[in-house]
Amino acid sequence: MGSLPVSSAALRLQGVERRYPQGDATLDILRGADFEVLEGQSVALVAPSGTGKSTLLHIAGLLEHQDAGEVFIAGKPTAGLGDAERTRIRRTDVGFVYQFHHLLPEFSALENVMLPQMIRGLHKREAAKRATELLSYLGLAKRLDHRPGELSGGEQQRVAIARAVANAPRVLLADEPTGNLDPHTADHVFGALSQLVEATGLAAVIATHNLDLAYRMHRRVTLQGGHVIELE
Ligand code: ADP
Ligand code: MG
Repeated sequence: MGSLPVSSAALRLQGVERRYPQGDATLDILRGADFEVLEGQSVALVAPSGTGKSTLLHIAGLLEHQDAGEVFIAGKPTAGLGDAERTRIRRTDVGFVYQFHHLLPEFSALENVMLPQMIRGLHKREAAKRATELLSYLGLAKRLDHRPGELSGGEQQRVAIARAVANAPRVLLADEPTGNLDPHTADHVFGALSQLVEATGLAAVIATHNLDLAYRMHRRVTLQGGHVIELE
């Protein structure tokens, strides 16, 4: 997708290890994973189920703690930080999109995108302005007052994307965000996501099984033996 401007790593994983106990044995999911994503760069994470994609994304997004290794967000090491500071970084610098939208059902699309901004301390009026802009950008200007239950699957995921980037994070992590959508809708949602990455200079990592979509990103990586491997 063309050459990238010289820029610094928004996200860097260094020697990340993660293991889960399984009966008497141990499941080594990440075995010293190294991974770097630059500002404005989109990376597809393509690997079979059970290889550790969600684990990697959760650790990168400070939702889960690694057993060893370091996660740098915007150059800042996070492994040694306490919960409060990790939560702060997660709120300001990281956006997360899940396979299922996880929107709050009682709130409108607009309110769902306003909430993370207000939690962060923004005034309601400012939050509404940015939420309106983001949702309009994602083609939802006519759906601001709809609740999640009144939106299609593709619309719900676009609201979830708007919510994830509401606080202008440096890193966007998406865990099979189009996995529940039909191919046409997936394509549309993915297009919106890519456009947003291009426009904002976000670093994005998107786990997907959709190779067509993966080839529209700047880079593709996979997980093999607990390591992140670059694909062509
Ligand atoms: P993927 O997203 O690629 O499908 P996951 O990261 O969800 O893979 O899981 C990788 C492996 O780790 C799977 O075998 C899964 O069962 C296991 N696993 C994930 N989370 C836990 C956990 N909290 N406890 C035990 N095993 C887990
Ligand atoms: Mg997963």
